[in-house]
This record gives sequence, structure tokens and C-alpha cells, in this order.
Amino acid sequence: MKAIILLGAPGAGKGTLSESVKNATDFIHISTGDMLREAVKAGTPTGLEAKSFMDKGELVPDDVIMRIVEERLSQGGLDDKYMFDGFPRTLEQARLLDEAMTKAGGVISQVFLLEVPTPVIVSRLSGRRICKNCGAVYHITNIPPKVEGICDRCGGQLYQRPDDTEATVLNRLDVYQRQTASLIDFYEKKGVLVRINAGETPQEAAKEMLEQLA
Ligand code: ADP
Ligand code: ZN
Repeated sequence: MKAIILLGAPGAGKGTLSESVKNATDFIHISTGDMLREAVKAGTPTGLEAKSFMDKGELVPDDVIMRIVEERLSQGGLDDKYMFDGFPRTLEQARLLDEAMTKAGGVISQVFLLEVPTPVIVSRLSGRRICKNCGAVYHITNIPPKVEGICDRCGGQLYQRPDDTEATVLNRLDVYQRQTASLIDFYEKKGVLVRINAGETPQEAAKEMLEQLA
């Protein structure tokens, strides 16, 4: 088992970038944020537990996250290559992931740090709109739909994620600084950190990452 990690503040573009990498490689995309939103939608016990944290922009407790990640990994094979998006997000999650990888005879080969200036992040997140029906992502000024509030692709309604309102965005950035930013140092010391300029277009970030992917 081999894994790469996408690390970066909310709004850095982890989701968009993982789509490009997924299409260009054979990495299996694992987004804890997507898994949690699915659990919330399905109303599972995990979803019920996670929702209140997510709506406030707080992190979901480590034990909940590790349970869903381990459950997902246990369904895979030994030769699988994973791309983690939004995980790990605390030092404890990173340590537990190391343990799990060691146990499975795997390695974390590269950790891509998506670097974006903070004002760019705030504007990206507070302007983001998502299709209720197909999940396509828009931005009110950067990537506007042809008709306001309507998905170009499927005609579905666009909505704003409850945690994309400006106050919650600022809290998520604060949570990132307090709880996640220390992972940069953690992975730099292991010699696996790769910095990517993710402040320009998604295409440029994807090109840079694919060039660096070993
Ligand atoms: P973003 O990176 O834009 O914040 P995500 O979809 O990755 O969006 O995460 C949305 C929310 O899901 C987070 O604010 C947090 O509440 C929860 N979450 C996702 N991944 C984790 C994780 N690894 N640890 C704790 N909470 C998580
Ligand atoms: Zn749509």
C-alpha cells in the first residue's frame, strides 16, 4: 500500500486538485470531508455525531475520523494507491496513520502542501456554490454558472455549504492554523513534503503536482 497526502488550508483547492490527479493516475481518492457529508446526508450515527462539528467549522473528533478511514482502507487491497484529501488534520491523526501504514507494510511517499495566500482563500470559500444534484463546484465571480443559481451541467440548484459562510470560513482558517499547520513540520522532517503553488488556476496547480508526483 502506498499513499500520498494533500495538505493545505480549507479553500486551497484540495478537492479540485484531487479530481485532476484521480483522472490522470490510478490513485484512489479518499476525502474525509466527502465521506462525512455523505454520512450526514444518510443520517448514520457517524453523520449525526459529525454534523454539529462540521457546521461550526470545528474538527470532527479523531476517533470518528480514524474509524471511517480504517473502515475504508480495510475494503482495499495491498497494491492500492491512496490519495488522502483533508486527512490527516491533526498530529494525532498523522501518528495513527503512520501506525496503520506500518502495520499494512505501506508508505506515505509524498505530502503535497498547497500554498495559497489567505485573502484568496476567504474569497474562494465565501463565493463557492455547489450543485445539490451533481456536486459540480462554482464560484459567484471566478466560475459563475450561465444562469444564476442553476447548474450548467444538470440544471440542479446551487447552494452554499453551511460551513462556507464568512464567519465559519474564518473559524476554519483559525482551526487550520491551530490544529493542522503543525503537520507541515511533521512531514518536512520526514523528508516527504512537496510545496505546490495553488494560488493561481486549478490547471496550473494540477500541472505542478503531476510533474512532482514520483
Ligand atoms: P475543507 O478542507 O474545505 O474544510 P472538507 O470537506 O475537507 O473541507 O472538510 C469539511 C469539514 O469536515 C471540516 O471542517 C471538519 O469539520 C470535517 N473534517 C473533514 N476531514 C476531517 C479530519 N481529517 N479531521 C477532522 N475533521 C474533519
Ligand atoms: Zn449539477
